[in-house]
Amino acid sequence: MLQCPCGCGEQIPVNVDKRAGKAWRFYCDADKSVTLFPSVWRDTGCQSHFIIWRDRILMFGLDRVSGTAPVESIDIGSLAKRVLDVWPRAGLVPYVDVADTLNEIPWDVQEACRALVKSGRLIEGLGKQRGMFRRS
Ligand SMILES: [Zn+2]
Repeated sequence: MLQCPCGCGEQIPVNVDKRAGKAWRFYCDADKSVTLFPSVWRDTGCQSHFIIWRDRILMFGLDRVSGTAPVESIDIGSLAKRVLDVWPRAGLVPYVDVADTLNEIPWDVQEACRALVKSGRLIEGLGKQRGMFRRS
């Protein structure tokens, strides 16, 4: 159970056991920080939408995100290089698949993908294919 980070006081059940149906992935990194993937999006009550990433909570509002991504905890340069090394030659691929290949936190890999888009090495899909990337 999570206490909803919006302050509404409600408890949110978050299943992390794949055997019990739809489950979040729970990561506890070597530095003991905690990550959940994917985001938590309540369809009742306060309807909060948030992610937990390396002990940080990022809340998604209608037009802005509050909270600070833990980018200083990630060596984006070296992760981006490893991401590109294993990225499939062809086709749009979800970043989470590459995170699994590398055994890395998906949010970290998404951040690395964005850096690779900025440097022109990857291209992100559009519309429903957002979150999927291909080599440029
Ligand atoms: Zn709430």
